[in-house]
Amino acid sequence: MSVRAYRDIHRRNSRQIHVGPVAVGGDAPISVQTMTNTVTADAKATIDQIRRIEEAGADIVRVSCPDQESTAAMKAICRAARIPVVADIHFHYKRAIEAAEAGAACLRINPGNIGSASRVREVVKAAKDHGCAMRIGVNAGSLEQDLMEKYGEPCPEAMVESALAHAGILEDNGFREYKISVKASDPFLAVAAYQALAKATDCPLHLGITEAGGMISGTVKSSIGMGALLWSGIGDTIRVSLSADPVEEVRVGFDILKALALRARGVNIVSCPSCARQGFDVIDTVKLLEERLKHITTPMSLSIIGCVVNGPGEALGTDVGFTGGGAGKGHGQVYLNGEPAYRIDNEILVDHIVELCEKKAAEIEANRGKSQAAP
Ligand code: SF4
Repeated sequence: MSVRAYRDIHRRNSRQIHVGPVAVGGDAPISVQTMTNTVTADAKATIDQIRRIEEAGADIVRVSCPDQESTAAMKAICRAARIPVVADIHFHYKRAIEAAEAGAACLRINPGNIGSASRVREVVKAAKDHGCAMRIGVNAGSLEQDLMEKYGEPCPEAMVESALAHAGILEDNGFREYKISVKASDPFLAVAAYQALAKATDCPLHLGITEAGGMISGTVKSSIGMGALLWSGIGDTIRVSLSADPVEEVRVGFDILKALALRARGVNIVSCPSCARQGFDVIDTVKLLEERLKHITTPMSLSIIGCVVNGPGEALGTDVGFTGGGAGKGHGQVYLNGEPAYRIDNEILVDHIVELCEKKAAEIEANRGKSQAAP
């Protein structure tokens, strides 16, 4: 029994697969992925974008392979990438084989769309020969015609039936290193489809609310849809789908996992919305700090609170804290490990807090090193 049972999430017991070195499913950390939006044939542009995606902390990156020029570039892309690359294939089985040969760690492909059984066998053989996993990606917007006729409209039952039919083809070919997604832009539909799928199979699930929209509305929809699923223990890897820079998708993905305490990465900032009581400009300060603290990957917490109404209480649970000293006072209180430490002028606030967070991160890493070295 944990100390705060209301915070416990009991993850669904999925089987584990590997996407390159990244374990997906079972007790593996829930991985965060995104997708490049460069022209894949432009290997340099794609590799440059993958670097930014890696720096943002992504565990896996997907690259679409619509043509032969793309799979030709995949060799250089997979060699340069420091995180496993998933090749996104639609329909054309030859692109899948080329991507597997080029070093992709996973193929996103629906075996039911490849065509003949012999083509499926060829793709499965290429995946096995090159250590590729696969992802079956069912999308409410592109369900098979026979299912649309049977069910009349995209619905959870149709999506699960589609997913299980594709999975059956892989199982019949002796291939089990696959995960499944059943995405929809409507969170109600996506959540219901994932819930039903989670009951029907033990394979790992890749979560996504597809075509969720722009930065704010897409983040909200993704947080509601994926949040509901993750909270109930469903989901082994996630992709937030935004009409925004892929780096933002990674950030939002981590923020969803951080909010549910399923992953920890970087500085978790607790900050107030600010009001007339604020002793400094909370909004601008937090904006600056988010930017200046991006480089810290060590999980730690920071509270930035406008006044004493909530400042000391929030500081209690954070590694570093700052509380405004009241309107017009020009200084505030620094907290270290939850305890009041000293006052500083608001003018040096951002630089000082960045310095304290860097020190704290180094201390946490040093302690972690010591505990790992201990017999
Ligand atoms: S903590 Fe203080 S400044 Fe911040 S919103 Fe609450 S009352 Fe306002």
